[in-house]
Amino acid sequence: MNGIPVIQGSTGEWEMVIGLEVHAQVISEAKLFSGAATAFGAEPNSQVSLVDAAMPGMLPVINEYCVAQAVRTGLGLRAEINNYSVFDRKNYFYPDLPAGYQISQYTQPIVGKGQIILDLPDGTMRTVGITRLHMEQDAGKSLHDQNPTLTYVDLNRAGVALMEIVSEPDLRGPEDAAAYLRKLRAILRYLGTCDGNMEEGSLRCDVNISVRRVGDNKYGTRCEVKNVNSIRAVQLAIEYEARRQVELLEDGGKVDQETRLWDPGQGLTRTMRSKEEAHDYRYFPDPDLLPLELEEDFIKAIRDSLPELPDEKKLRFIDHYGLSQYDAMVLVSERQRADFYEAVVKGPGGGTDGRRDPKLAANWVITELFGGLNKAGKDIWDSPVSADQLGELVDLIADETISGRIAKDVFAEMFETGRNAGTIVEEKGLRQVTDTGAIEAAIDQVLAAQAGKVAEYKGGKEKLFGFFVGQVMKATQGKANPALVNTVLKRKLDG
Ligand code: ADP
Ligand code: MG
Repeated sequence: MNGIPVIQGSTGEWEMVIGLEVHAQVISEAKLFSGAATAFGAEPNSQVSLVDAAMPGMLPVINEYCVAQAVRTGLGLRAEINNYSVFDRKNYFYPDLPAGYQISQYTQPIVGKGQIILDLPDGTMRTVGITRLHMEQDAGKSLHDQNPTLTYVDLNRAGVALMEIVSEPDLRGPEDAAAYLRKLRAILRYLGTCDGNMEEGSLRCDVNISVRRVGDNKYGTRCEVKNVNSIRAVQLAIEYEARRQVELLEDGGKVDQETRLWDPGQGLTRTMRSKEEAHDYRYFPDPDLLPLELEEDFIKAIRDSLPELPDEKKLRFIDHYGLSQYDAMVLVSERQRADFYEAVVKGPGGGTDGRRDPKLAANWVITELFGGLNKAGKDIWDSPVSADQLGELVDLIADETISGRIAKDVFAEMFETGRNAGTIVEEKGLRQVTDTGAIEAAIDQVLAAQAGKVAEYKGGKEKLFGFFVGQVMKATQGKANPALVNTVLKRKLDG
């Protein structure tokens, strides 16, 4: 097994080939070619300039900030930045596209080849090629559900800057596609160039899928699936569509290159239109816009301002804190998660070196905190427990004030109430008993009460040892230091 999933058909094994086209909305106050605002959820048609409405004689003016965001994204994808790129008109008619064309980039995009490293769930990594990133403007929105007989058009989104990021057909299944989208989203968020919100449509994805027999090195004919609005939907659409193509081919049919629509209600894809070809769009350079020429200084200033990105952060966490691949991957998956973890390790006042045990801190952040947030459906920035509060709990474990077992209960209460660990421990008298005398007394009591079991143990039933430990912990409400209980019990029973 090389980790590549196969589909078992009736005549043999098949492999999936997938390439994604992602539209990422640029974080920018103003649109790509006009000064109109871009806020999500505004009153329909309240953020439309004359340019966006394609009034006669209006001319587009390029927004330098959006260009910088595209370059920043390109650098984050380790891609070639093209000093010279061209805006083209992509011509088609649709009511939400008042100009009758979309300004896009075609043969000369702003960003060329790059790559993304996938962090797969089994801890392995794989590199996926980025074909290109180009800039284009978004269309408006047709609203079909406001009136039974009319369609309304909202042009707030018309002209908003998008980055279309196209991958090579390097993905080999639903897991790959999910890992790709998660990683791309993380990079965009670290860079601050797109908020990555799929529900609000600021990150949208078209999925190209084909299948081929295992061992074939030629690609099959692909279908492009649209309307896939979540990572889960992407995975389900790939599973369905690949299976459909395999069955079609095994029945002696052939795959038509077409655009299909994902139907989330029924869990299937259906034909939308036969695939349009580039020449259908009559691309030509937009005569209203000069070619975009970037100066080296402009690119360098952006390069110098890049933050530490997930891959570098992950390596640093492994290197500097001695974390496992997996733990580091989980922590860096979101910048706020990584920041939270580092705040716990460093403690108040920060500094470069961890004040707290990095592995202990990672365990508590990942297992208890992320686990708790997950269950509660909360994001890290809504955490009821702050980094300082979790740090205090880690300190109480490290200095043996409380056992790890008791710490879980304390954490649950912190999560519930937002109170500090120290307060809860004192109030409830949860300090660990490390006084040998007290532990000895508890053990003597237990052994006296369980004389029969003691006899069995001495007669050779050694697995009763765990039972005695349990009884002692129960007698001390879980507060006895477990290591001490073990030592003293051994001495009393065996010695
Ligand atoms: P278009 O604009 O016609 O959709 P692009 O070349 O811009 O074409 O994008 C095509 C997408 O389809 C890319 O993500 C690419 O990786 C993917 N792709 C190309 N060939 C195949 C194939 N045979 N199977 C699956 N995906 C493919
Ligand atoms: Mg396409």
